[in-house]
Amino acid sequence: MRMLQRRLVRPTLLVDVGCLSRMREVVEEPDHLVIGATTTQHELLHDARVRAHAPLLSLVARHVGDPAVRHRGTLGGSVAHADPAGDPPAAVLALDGEIIVEGPRGERVIPSAEFFVGPFRTALEPDELLVGVRVPKMGEGWTVHYEKFRLSAQKPTLLGVAVMVRRVGDCFTDAHIALANSGSTPVRATAVEVALVGADVTEEAVTKAADLLDGTMEPFARQGVSQAYLAHLARVLTRRAVVAALSW
Ligand SMILES: Cc1cc2nc3c(=O)[nH]c(=O)nc-3n(C[C@H](O)[C@H](O)[C@H](O)COP(=O)(O)OP(=O)(O)OC[C@H]3O[C@@H](n4cnc5c(N)ncnc54)[C@H](O)[C@@H]3O)c2cc1C
Repeated sequence: MRMLQRRLVRPTLLVDVGCLSRMREVVEEPDHLVIGATTTQHELLHDARVRAHAPLLSLVARHVGDPAVRHRGTLGGSVAHADPAGDPPAAVLALDGEIIVEGPRGERVIPSAEFFVGPFRTALEPDELLVGVRVPKMGEGWTVHYEKFRLSAQKPTLLGVAVMVRRVGDCFTDAHIALANSGSTPVRATAVEVALVGADVTEEAVTKAADLLDGTMEPFARQGVSQAYLAHLARVLTRRAVVAALSW
């Protein structure tokens, strides 16, 4: 829809998969949720199972466009579209989600880390349909946050940070952090994740870890802002997102 809206594509044939009811289900498995591809962002925001077991997806959905966009836009469409600035792809990557696709050769399950291969490019073959996204249910001790920055309400995401952290007592035991619009695909902030695990739950430790983004990210200048500004913004938003997750 985004490409049509911008007149970037003029298809001669358009197939609406929105009416395939099997692709609109949220299925609860013992340790996972399988969210059908045509589940809208509005549904992610309000579905009780998504809110309980994958709250990061609900949080991110709230940041997508406006209510009209959220009523039409789908999780599968956003993931298949693979816009580096897309918010849901970063959350799916932070969640270690799996992308379920079907085609003439049967079903394939692709880890999100292998699914996004470039700007607007994925591991989907032309004859395959994305049917759902499987994400692990959030366990005990995990908290989440999504921090998004745009230059004005109408502008696309300048940078987004999806965070899941787990703490036991005063110590971080796990951290998953993925950035939107900080490269040609959503990217994991691996250096920050490694630095957080085992660190004390203090603002100082979080700032120290977030500062490691310097060496790991390759923010490129866009929307009229410099690379240095984006690198600074990435560190600030990451620190802010982890701190906010702690008070979730
Ligand atoms: C005004 C506006 C503002 C927006 N703001 C934001 C924002 O702030 N953040 C954000 O993340 N997104 C934003 N979006 C994107 C939007 O939320 C949708 O997620 C995105 O446009 C995909 O829409 P869709 O689900 O209708 O998929 P479509 O537009 O129908 O499809 C997108 C692409 O994926 C392919 N595709 C779709 N479904 C499947 C499938 N099941 N299997 C295989 N291929 C498939 C299509 O062929 C197409 O190439 C915005 C869009 C608009 C129009």
